[in-house]
Amino acid sequence: MKYIDSLRHILDFECKKGYSNKAVIGGLDKYLHKQVGQIRQDIGDRQLLAEFDNLNLANSNYGSFDINGRKKWIAQIFAWLGKFEQAKKDTLTSPLPLKERNRKSATTTHPPPRLAMNTRVTEMAKSYPERKSAALDSPITVIKGITPRVATKFTKLNIRTIHDFLYLLPRRYVDYSQRKHISELEAGQEQTIIATVWQARVATFGYRPGTEAIVADETGNIRVVWFNQPYLAKRFPTNSRVVISGMVYQFKGLKVFESPEWEMLEDKELIHTARLVPVYPLTQGLYPRQVRKWTKEATDNWAWQVGDFLPSEVKNRCQLLNLPEAVAQIHYPDDQLMAEEAIRRLAFDELFLLQLGVLARKRDWQKSQPGNAFNVDRKIIAMYLHCLPFTLTRAQERVLEEILADLKQPSAMSRLLQGEVGSGKTVIAVLALLIAVANNYQGALMAPTEVLAEQHFNNICGYLSQASTYTLPGEVRPAGEPPPCQEEPTDNIRYYTGLISHPLTIALLVGSLSDSEKQELHHRIKQGKIDIVIGTHALIQKGVSFHKLGLAVTDEQQRFGVLQRSSLRQKGFNPHILVMTATPIPRTMALTLYGDLDLSIIDEMPPGRQQVKTIYIEPQHTEKAYNFIRRQATSGKQAFIICPLIEESEILEAKAATTEYAYLSQEIFPDLRLGLLYGRMPPGDKEKVMRSFREGALDILVSTSVIEVGIDIPNATVMMVEGADRFGLSQLHQFRGRVGRNKEQGYCILISEKSSPETRKRLQLMAEFHNGLALAEKDLELRGPGEFFGTHQSGLPDLKIAKLSDLQLLELARQEAITLFQGDSNLEKPEHQPLRERLSQVWSKDTEWS
Ligand code: ADP
Ligand code: MG
Repeated sequence: MKYIDSLRHILDFECKKGYSNKAVIGGLDKYLHKQVGQIRQDIGDRQLLAEFDNLNLANSNYGSFDINGRKKWIAQIFAWLGKFEQAKKDTLTSPLPLKERNRKSATTTHPPPRLAMNTRVTEMAKSYPERKSAALDSPITVIKGITPRVATKFTKLNIRTIHDFLYLLPRRYVDYSQRKHISELEAGQEQTIIATVWQARVATFGYRPGTEAIVADETGNIRVVWFNQPYLAKRFPTNSRVVISGMVYQFKGLKVFESPEWEMLEDKELIHTARLVPVYPLTQGLYPRQVRKWTKEATDNWAWQVGDFLPSEVKNRCQLLNLPEAVAQIHYPDDQLMAEEAIRRLAFDELFLLQLGVLARKRDWQKSQPGNAFNVDRKIIAMYLHCLPFTLTRAQERVLEEILADLKQPSAMSRLLQGEVGSGKTVIAVLALLIAVANNYQGALMAPTEVLAEQHFNNICGYLSQASTYTLPGEVRPAGEPPPCQEEPTDNIRYYTGLISHPLTIALLVGSLSDSEKQELHHRIKQGKIDIVIGTHALIQKGVSFHKLGLAVTDEQQRFGVLQRSSLRQKGFNPHILVMTATPIPRTMALTLYGDLDLSIIDEMPPGRQQVKTIYIEPQHTEKAYNFIRRQATSGKQAFIICPLIEESEILEAKAATTEYAYLSQEIFPDLRLGLLYGRMPPGDKEKVMRSFREGALDILVSTSVIEVGIDIPNATVMMVEGADRFGLSQLHQFRGRVGRNKEQGYCILISEKSSPETRKRLQLMAEFHNGLALAEKDLELRGPGEFFGTHQSGLPDLKIAKLSDLQLLELARQEAITLFQGDSNLEKPEHQPLRERLSQVWSKDTEWS
């Protein structure tokens, strides 16, 4: 108690000296600023400590007060000292001896040694003898001023507990740390002054009441106005001390603060002014000033309790702040540097937990059940390859071998196959599926759209029918015809004899089948009477269960998330999984988003492909583009015309496409054969249109963005995109990939009504870059990762603060996650328990573990 005793002693003395600030050499403020930390250590009770902190002795300004101010101020401290005395008496009669309480707290987690500059939070933690981690789970209504009604507003932001509230992170800060004298103020900048109120009154601005004040410091005075806030006038009594932060304007030759932030200069830490002020995401009915008051209270009282789950070696190696400090600093940073450090720590946490979860998931998949080791029968591969009109590229061969090597293993394959649009991923997938069926397992191929599923089905059936009648050189088919198949093929089920020991059965399962067709298919799949099933999401819906799923392939992975992957996985006996994507993303990012997967890349295009010539034109030149399309069509080629994207509604989009189709077929191309395709079309019609286009019965296909992925029409040479500015570069690159798929020169025409310099620049990039990865990176730069690649859809925990585009931090987190995982992959070591607990919170919230 010796520090508190000497505080009392000095204050007594100061009163005796007539509040002359002479009780201690150098003045009271200097003494307090130095001693406050020690004094705090004498305070055992949380409530008392909080009240003591509210006195804000660490930033006292006693010397600047007049005598009345000084009296009032010292009286406040005495009031607190009185409470402290009382509490001390109470503790002596308390049922739980102090010693016992301290022992109890020793079992809870202590903060690890601190790294950083600011001592406030850790000191705070030190001086609390009792730490109840349960307090963090308390509802936010324990914060003064948060009523149950206010709490429901926070529920909208997904905030229920104190812990959630501490993680209500500022979106940004307003920098009001530039403190100036009034004479130094400059118009057009955000600045802060500390001043005395001369006069404040209600004033009218254009018939509306507001507040006008004149405030002054020793260098001059300035007018401050608040529009629409007449009630403020009462808040600024003459001679009160006030801090004003905001934009300074020049009005009729005089400087003025317009609707600035303000705060009375009291004995509390400033939170609205004179610092980096946090700006929070708000919902209706929550006001910035209130929210700041509450976050300040939360950080002061609870930040120190947040358990730091990162092992200290990780923190040391990566030079990260301690978590309590980061949490406190992210709300009310000491300065810009601390704000950045706090953000870095919390961002690291997110990425680190993400990677650990992904690694654990991969390990679990591989371990949970032994996978199925397949026998690789080269004969069936040779038979299929023989029927293709091309030979595999070297990259395709390499990737095929990587996949075959995986399939031979008794643990499940989890592989991501990444390859530029048109690099020939499908054939690799089909070969892997054939290996699965040759091993008497079922295979599934899941595509993002029905159109694409149908295309895969038709293509694969085409090749299978050739392969089934082909005899490898040196092979002899059993004499006579192959045993006839008992079943009649239907639109969505086909049979091919001669490839495996029984007729190979392949089926198409899409949402548009009739219920009875679907049920029949479900039944057969369950019975094991279907070998390969191709479909859309319908494949992973409830009701579909496989007899013996051995390999699941998902095409165009960017549309599928971890969740879908895991539900597909649950369909089988730990099947091998192959996911394919044409969206090239930087390797580290791929390894994070798909960290549960091994990576194979087809980095070579089939020979003879030419770069698709790409031009960007303004609408007034559309006529020329139409003429160009007509010439191509009359020479036997085909073209796509893509209608602008209408994000709000598929129905509106369909309508726009229908109108465009009518216009084009009646006014522009009455002499040509046009087809129309959009997402909501009756499925049978869709299939019919695609078939006619593929067979050359149509010259031009007018379509919405449903055509974006995968569609393969080798005879199409022109891709015209209207409203091109509405699409992302990666998406445009996908469109472009639909043409120039054989030896013919392909053309891509981008039309945009918007002709702002940015639009022009962005679309010009399409003409410049033909490499998907380069375009993806540009897209990332221009549109940010949120739009480019929301983690939301991928089924990963949401990133609130980390940016996937911060490759450096991503890489650091990944390395640390791998190191930790190698040393203790089950997180069994005692020092990893907090981490383990945090991990399960983060992952269970957003995903189901398989
Ligand atoms: P993506 O990788 O975009 O899915 P696809 O598998 O649809 O590409 O293949 C694009 C086109 O290239 C198809 O028409 C396919 O038959 C053809 N193709 C695939 N591999 C080769 C190859 N090695 N040589 C020539 N053409 C190929
Ligand atoms: Mg494809």
